[in-house]
This record gives sequence, structure tokens and C-alpha cells, in this order.
Amino acid sequence: MKFLCVDCDRQMTFEERALPGDGTLAATFKCPKCGRVMALLTNPMETQLVSSLGVEIGGRTVPTQPLETVRKMVTTGRNDAFDHEGSTEHGAGSRTSWSAEALARLDRVPNFVRGMVKKIYIDYARERGISEITPAIMDCARSELGLEGM
Ligand SMILES: [Zn+2]
Repeated sequence: MKFLCVDCDRQMTFEERALPGDGTLAATFKCPKCGRVMALLTNPMETQLVSSLGVEIGGRTVPTQPLETVRKMVTTGRNDAFDHEGSTEHGAGSRTSWSAEALARLDRVPNFVRGMVKKIYIDYARERGISEITPAIMDCARSELGLEGM
């Protein structure tokens, strides 16, 4: 992110930054030729959006916040990112189990979405009182929920 002094056609230099602690970021830029100063003020959401994209505003000191966590989670593809129910495939504490064929098929789902896909099938089965998820159930869920490719 750069600012240009239109009158002088010079790139303004970063001068100072204030981080009041509520996520608001104020940065000032100064034209080295005419001395004109302008300030950039962002609200917490904008500040986080900018920093989450890896953009540095005059040297990075913006604290890590949730949006960045989400981005990291997506890029690293944690297997259990969407699996809030723990281990459900063996029926521990749950009425839904998976047949061996269904588990084998689940294994072919890309790692980074597997937890989410698994939860979708479990929710589907629970809503219909299905106790065991089989490839046939997965086919039904896929066509009913429009999950072709999962
Ligand atoms: Zn200027």
C-alpha cells in the first residue's frame, strides 16, 4: 500500500502509526517534498482484513486476530477443523456409525474437507434416524444435499 502526493508526483513516506488497542489502525504518510501529511484510518475489521492478507502497513505490529487464524486453518487443512464432535465413527457416545465401505470412501475425500464432509453425513443420518452410514446412504445424501464430488 503506497500513497502518492499528486502535486509533487512523489511517493509519500510512512511517518507514524498508532494502535490504540481496539484494532483501529491510524497511519500517517508525509510527502518528502512539500511536507503534506495524510492519515489512513482503518476500523478493526479493515485492519484485520489487510493484515490477514499478509500486507504490512509500515512494519508489522498488528496483533494476530481470528480472521488470520481462519486463513491458516484453511491453508494447513487441519483434518479435524470442522469435526467438533470428536471421534464419532465407532459410535462412541453417538447413535451413528460408519460401515467399513463408507469409511473407506470417506478416506478418499480430500484431507482438508474430510471433517466437514463427515459432519454433513452424520447430520444427514441423524436427521433421518439412520444408525449406520453406508455408501448407499452417502449416495442419497449427496444427491439430496447437492454434494456431488464429495
Ligand atoms: Zn508533495
